[in-house]
Amino acid sequence: MNSEDPKARPRPPRIVPRAEHTVSRADVSSNALKVLYRLKNAGYSAFLVGGGVRDLLLGRHPKDFDVVTDAHPEQVNQLFRNCRLIGRRFRLAHVRFGRDIIEVATFRATGTNGNGNGPGEGEDDRSHSDSGRILRDNVYGSIDEDIWRRDFTVNALYYNIADFTLWDYTNGLEDIKSRTLRLIGDPVTRYREDPVRMLRAVRLAAKLDFHIAPETEAPIRELAELLKDVPPARLFDEVLKLFHAGAALKSFEMLREYHLFHYLFPATSAVLNEPDGAAALEFVREGLKNTDERVREDKPVTPMFLFAVFLWPPIKKLAEELRGEGLSPVMALNEASHRIVAEQQLHITFPKRFAIPMKEILAMQSRFENRRGPRAAKLLEHKRFRAAYDFLLLRARCGEADAEIADWWTKAQELPPEQQREALGGGKKKRRRRSKSRRGRAGAGGAFDAA
Ligand code: ATP
Ligand code: MG
Repeated sequence: MNSEDPKARPRPPRIVPRAEHTVSRADVSSNALKVLYRLKNAGYSAFLVGGGVRDLLLGRHPKDFDVVTDAHPEQVNQLFRNCRLIGRRFRLAHVRFGRDIIEVATFRATGTNGNGNGPGEGEDDRSHSDSGRILRDNVYGSIDEDIWRRDFTVNALYYNIADFTLWDYTNGLEDIKSRTLRLIGDPVTRYREDPVRMLRAVRLAAKLDFHIAPETEAPIRELAELLKDVPPARLFDEVLKLFHAGAALKSFEMLREYHLFHYLFPATSAVLNEPDGAAALEFVREGLKNTDERVREDKPVTPMFLFAVFLWPPIKKLAEELRGEGLSPVMALNEASHRIVAEQQLHITFPKRFAIPMKEILAMQSRFENRRGPRAAKLLEHKRFRAAYDFLLLRARCGEADAEIADWWTKAQELPPEQQREALGGGKKKRRRRSKSRRGRAGAGGAFDAA
């Protein structure tokens, strides 16, 4: 199918009987099964599709299950009390079971340029009339048209609840076996339709340990620039999926290899590519390794930390320049964070609820050097202390912060409050100082060295 006219009539599917594949109802969530059966019992066709089927075939635990059907959204809505229709142009049904949501999509016709990713994203409005009627006639199709809204062959396998067969239109099963990500249709056309597919290729290859088929990877470097046209809010979602799924380091290396990283974090990319960028690169790699470890250990991860890792190299560099222009270290760091974050926002939305604390933890980095007095004591009580301290450890591990300072703060935290006060030598008196230029200059050492 790949070499032919991409929108040519698809061949009939290869239908694999239950006995010859490994997708078992025992591994499908009970909520997804409820939805599938209710649709089937009402006389509609109902299939499981997408990452859920792919992951079951790979023996992985699916993140979620997507259902497709020939029932129109209004008909789905009538079948379920716990149902909500979302999206204006391409309506989807969300069937809710507590916190679990099963997304039910109606087969979509060709030419609607759906991205299967929810309404309003990457859709070409211009090719559609605003008149609901015409739109509706265009929108719904049959299962063999629905494959065109899928990206990779391994994401276009349909599990039929009526007889538990697996429908394969695009040789997806072969590609599962050889662990290959292959775009359906002409790659250039599909990337132009939705440039996020380039990021999805990297993300899924990294996460599933797949390789990208030669014809699917060939155009990526040349088309990487198309990411410029993707709305920054959508890129934020994609970036979290790329870096919070346990394969952050690998995703990062691949994004760089395919020249995609530059369009996500241009300022970072510029610093990493400088002749003396090796240390910054090491720093980012360490940060991502740390993120992957946290995911593996089921610890929480936050965009605040992720963006701190990516933005620290350009912020640090700009701060150094600003110091050269005479700004104090603290002022330089604040100003640099402010400018780099503002510039980054043009590419990827970075919501304030993460950006503000991120700036705080970066600003705290220069304050760690001061280990005595009320300011140091205050640092320990700061609500971002833990995050800022984790960031300090990361810097120390890469040799860009003094390991001895990091050690000192590790010990300071572990002391009982009474001794903490003593170590910091700050007393409890709250003193307000107005002069910005005066900052604590207590030397290294203190209570711990004596011990
Ligand atoms: P994950 O395991 O990370 O959820 P996924 O493949 O299931 O991976 P989803 O974003 O959940 O990814 O999308 C579900 C399905 O919708 C995909 O398997 C694919 O068939 C289709 N899809 C999603 N995004 C796109 C896109 N941008 N272009 C084409 N098809 C897409
Ligand atoms: Mg999914």
